[in-house]
Amino acid sequence: MSHWIADRTASFDSSGIRKVFDLAAKMKNPINLSIGLPDFDVPEPIKLACVDAIHSGKNAYSQTQGIAPLRERLARDIAAVHPGADRDLLITSGTSGGLVLAMLAMINPGDEVIFFDPYFVMYPALVTLAGGVPVPIDTYPDFRMNVDRVAAAITPKTKMILVNSPANPTGVTASASDLQQIAELAAKHDIVLLSDEIYSQFQYDDAYVSPTRFNDKTIVIDGFSKSHAMTGWRVGFVHGPSDVIAAMTKLQQFTFVCAPQPAQWAALRGLDVDLSHHIDDYRHKRDLICDGLRGHYEFTRSTGAFYLYPKAPARYESATSFVEDAISNELLVIPGKIFSGRDTHFRISYAAPDETLQRGIEVLKRLADA
Ligand code: PMP
Repeated sequence: MSHWIADRTASFDSSGIRKVFDLAAKMKNPINLSIGLPDFDVPEPIKLACVDAIHSGKNAYSQTQGIAPLRERLARDIAAVHPGADRDLLITSGTSGGLVLAMLAMINPGDEVIFFDPYFVMYPALVTLAGGVPVPIDTYPDFRMNVDRVAAAITPKTKMILVNSPANPTGVTASASDLQQIAELAAKHDIVLLSDEIYSQFQYDDAYVSPTRFNDKTIVIDGFSKSHAMTGWRVGFVHGPSDVIAAMTKLQQFTFVCAPQPAQWAALRGLDVDLSHHIDDYRHKRDLICDGLRGHYEFTRSTGAFYLYPKAPARYESATSFVEDAISNELLVIPGKIFSGRDTHFRISYAAPDETLQRGIEVLKRLADA
């Protein structure tokens, strides 16, 4: 029935990542450093708030834009950072839901969307889905957002610049000055600046900087999946200029309808849960993996999220062939080809127990030094 499938769907390919997961399913005790989610469980008070919401009958659709207490609380937090700005808010079905709505609300067929390579897998797919043209900007070898490369890529068709800091898959956080230059460039050319801030809490060295600080029209997408380990609960949020949020809300009404209501009540509770010990723990894991691989692999030190993106050892013809070798040694990592035009690097997720990380480091060292 392949002729039933629309061209837009046929244009993206998920076979690479599926291959890794199919191999993983066959392994007895894999060293799994491939997972893009926290290794801690949803904190207890959040679980209780969800159960409580269900028991007290908060099970129907919520308002399209989300339950009022969650919106009011987030709006207060946002207004504290952006006093007086024209900023409205929408609760979405995960950060992914926010990304889908943002693309559909703002991208016309033929519009170009600039983002940085390596990129989160959904970006080129969603741009294409909306009829837009993906314009990846190469950031190797240090994964910095280079404003000159962005400026050179701008054409009359450029509609949006999409930034993600800290980034998946590199674990690199953009510097305040690079973000400022990109934010000012977007403002100068009247280009939409969309900031995917899902990893903003996972920031290990310096204070978090959002490009909203330099461009008050920035549209921010954030969510509870990573910060509160709520990946399966599907709660995210978007804030930005009110006319954009109104367009996205209208689209949500005709697509996702709303984020799951009990999970929204749980998210509200989550805003008062202290997560700092998890962040401290992940900083320690970041140190463990970076110290463990130093001298064996070429990599840019991870400063955020929970990823490291090393270069595959030179004796492999591609990162894919390196990952095949790693998998035959029970180690699961993701080949960079899935996130990039290049097949030279691989992604490690260090959101794993220390003991798993230690086992992974041993295998990686063996593979590098063979
Ligand atoms: N953006 C980035 C950069 C991500 O890594 C992820 C999850 N892997 C998402 C968005 C989507 O997260 P969710 O839909 O669970 O909020």
